[in-house]
Amino acid sequence: MPQLRQDLITGRWVAVATERARRPDSFTQAARETVAARDVCPFCPGHEEMTPPEVLAYRTTGTPANAPGWSIRVVPNLYAAFKLSPEGQERRDGGFWQRDAIGTCEVLISSPDHRAPTPLLPRSQVEEIVQSYVDRYRVHQRNPVLEYVLILYNHGRPAGASLEHPHSQLYAISLVPPNFHEELAGATRFQAEHGACVFCRTIEEETRAGVRIIMENEGFVVFAPFAARTPFETWIVPKRHAASFGDLDEQADKGAFAEVLQATLQGLYRGLNDPPFNYFIHSAPLKGDYAHEYHWHLEIIPKLSIAAGFELGTGMWINVVKPEDSAAFLRERIETLAREGSAA
Ligand SMILES: [Zn+2]
Ligand SMILES: [Zn+2]
Ligand SMILES: [Zn+2]
Repeated sequence: MPQLRQDLITGRWVAVATERARRPDSFTQAARETVAARDVCPFCPGHEEMTPPEVLAYRTTGTPANAPGWSIRVVPNLYAAFKLSPEGQERRDGGFWQRDAIGTCEVLISSPDHRAPTPLLPRSQVEEIVQSYVDRYRVHQRNPVLEYVLILYNHGRPAGASLEHPHSQLYAISLVPPNFHEELAGATRFQAEHGACVFCRTIEEETRAGVRIIMENEGFVVFAPFAARTPFETWIVPKRHAASFGDLDEQADKGAFAEVLQATLQGLYRGLNDPPFNYFIHSAPLKGDYAHEYHWHLEIIPKLSIAAGFELGTGMWINVVKPEDSAAFLRERIETLAREGSAA
C-alpha cells in the first residue's frame, strides 16, 4: 500500500510511491534512457493487454473491449501512487504521522495515434478528450472516500511525460492537495471579505485591462494571469460561475471549452515550436460546499525555464517574460492560425 507521510514541521503531506519500485541507482541518466528505449508502447492499439483492463473507451460499434477500435481509452495506472482500499489507516511512526495513500490513478489515452501531438489533434478528438475527463470526473465524484479529483496532462519529457504516446492522467485522492489549498483559502477569504467570487472578479479585471487576454468565445476566457509565475502561464476560465468541473455539461458548453483548449495549445505549439508544458484542471473539493467561492479553471504552465534553487528555497517564482508580452504573442499567433485555417 502506498503511503502518505506528514512533515512534522510544515504539516505537508508527501506521497511515497514505493510500488513504482525504483531503485536509487535507476535515477542515473543512462539507466533512464535504456528503459525508455527498450519499452514497447503499452498505449498503442494492439497492445491493450499490456495495460490493466479499460474502465472507459469510446470505440467503433461492435469492437470488443480491450481490443483495437477505440478513439479514447481509459485504464488504471499500473504505477499508481494511490490505491483504493476500504481500510485506509492512519498511524504513528515514532513522532511522525503516516497514512495509507487512498485514491486511484488513471491514464486517459488521448488518441490511438502514437505520434499525434495533442495540440494538433482535430477538434472532434479534443471534444472526446474533454468528454472523457467529464465522464471519469463524475464517476469518482460519487465515491465517498475521495476528497479531490485532479486531471492533468504532461506534454514532452521535460514536463514529466514518461511515455511519448499522448495521454492525460487523473488522480482521485483522499486529501485536498496543498497547492490547491492555498487557492481555496484565498477564494474563501475573498468571499468572506467581499461577498463575491475572486475568479469572477479576476475575469472582470482582466477583461477591463484587456492586455493579458489571449482569446475568448461565448463560454470561456483565456488569459495570462497578472502575476503569472512562468513565461506563457495561461489560464482558461469559464465565464459563467461554476465551482465543479463535473458540471461542465450543464454550466458551460463542452464544445466551447474544446475550442479554446485546442486553439491555445496550437498557439503554444506553433508559436514556441512544441514547448514542453503541463496543464491541470482545478475544481472544487468533493466534500464541503464551495459553490459560491470556488470557480473551476484550467492552468497551462509551459516548461520554458527550470525551477531552480530560488524557487525551491522560497516558493516564489521569478518570471522573465511580462505576461502582457506573452499574451500579445500568443493572441497574434492564434489569430494568424485561425485566419490560415479559415482560408484553407
Ligand atoms: Zn503508442
Ligand atoms: Zn466565479
Ligand atoms: Zn488553480
